[in-house]
Amino acid sequence: MKCTRCEGLMVFDQIYGPDEAIFDLPIWRCLNCGSSIDPLIMQKRLTEDKTKPVTSKKENVA
Ligand SMILES: [Zn+2]
Repeated sequence: MKCTRCEGLMVFDQIYGPDEAIFDLPIWRCLNCGSSIDPLIMQKRLTEDKTKPVTSKKENVA
């Protein structure tokens, strides 16, 4: 897993909620720049990209 920002090494980490309740949310965290990626969001983004209708209709941009 490479960081999308700096291509640094990403490690699997977990986010804990602010309350005592443990969310136990799995994320990828970059050791280099600290950027974190939520695999669920990533997956959602991918599926959205797939299901998103291709809107190649050109608008009138001046
Ligand atoms: Zn990074």
